[in-house]
Amino acid sequence: MATYTSYDVVEFGKPLQEQQRPMPVPSGTEVLLRVRRAGVCHSDVHISDGYFDLGEEGVLRMEDRGIALPKALGHEIAGQVIALGPDADGVSVGQTMLVFPWIGCRKCQACQEDRENDCTGSRFVGLVQDGGYATHCLIEHPKFLIDVEGMDLDMVTPHACSGLTVFSGLKKMGPVRGDEWIAIMGTGGLGLNAIAIAKAMGYGQIVALDNVAAKLETAKNMGADKVLDSSEDGAVEKLQAMTGNKLTGVVDTVGVPSTSYIAVRALTKTGRYVVLGLHGGDLKMPLPWLPQKALTIAGCHVGCSGDLKELLGLVRAGKVKELPVESRPLSAVDRSLNDLRKGNVTGRIVLNAD
Ligand SMILES: [Zn+2]
Ligand SMILES: [Zn+2]
Repeated sequence: MATYTSYDVVEFGKPLQEQQRPMPVPSGTEVLLRVRRAGVCHSDVHISDGYFDLGEEGVLRMEDRGIALPKALGHEIAGQVIALGPDADGVSVGQTMLVFPWIGCRKCQACQEDRENDCTGSRFVGLVQDGGYATHCLIEHPKFLIDVEGMDLDMVTPHACSGLTVFSGLKKMGPVRGDEWIAIMGTGGLGLNAIAIAKAMGYGQIVALDNVAAKLETAKNMGADKVLDSSEDGAVEKLQAMTGNKLTGVVDTVGVPSTSYIAVRALTKTGRYVVLGLHGGDLKMPLPWLPQKALTIAGCHVGCSGDLKELLGLVRAGKVKELPVESRPLSAVDRSLNDLRKGNVTGRIVLNAD
């Protein structure tokens, strides 16, 4: 019997295990991909650990979300189509496709309007369904595949999560006027992509913050107009000064108490604070600030398939500066998750399964 190799979470909080699984045969609308690239996302650290930190609310356990093990994580996937179910239309064997992994129930209002990321019955690839930390991956319908023929796969693969998440978050934050500023909190894979994509979207003045000063140089290279070490004393006042008190938008790719502390204080009147990061903890602020500063606080969870297509249009047009990518073999996935857990990764690790 034909098999394929998968690097599975077998037990939460334990190293991934290499397993051989029976090769799936696509039925109905299913499409079988040979995985070519898989981006390593920080959420996979939380997922393989088995929980998210909900601050005073405790933790969100993956078991309680109905995540059955063993599971291949990995939701940034580019692959070559190698087999099709009889009803898989609009795609052919041999094509190289990027997976839109944020699949919903496909029945609710949100799903029918292609706002899959707003579906409450998510069936995400690499979380609920097996993902790309494997040599092969089965996708349930061609509508979740986007043609990336001719594009640099190391560059394009992280856009399925990292790029899409920040693109949607920036859209939610909305436009700025005149000499207003936006800030990007965190300069990991998400934050660096946020700087590059914000520039491609036309944001003129961007300040990047991180508590690891060494990462700020990379942020400048990605297009940040100013940078600030957020661990410095008086970071709020410094941020207000360097933006001329015209900070109107913050996209927080970290999402911890210290980033939210700075954001809600440094934002000027009518400021918008959009949280994308899932590191965890509580947001605390004086409630009167919401009306007094007319603040908007929003969350954005990944993005929809339309946004991913729109973002790839910007990428194809050469408008998005390329993220520093470190290529590693697929078998390095467990080591890569550990490196991310320790925080010593610049840009994105993209696993190569070719
Ligand atoms: Zn991700
Ligand atoms: Zn749905």
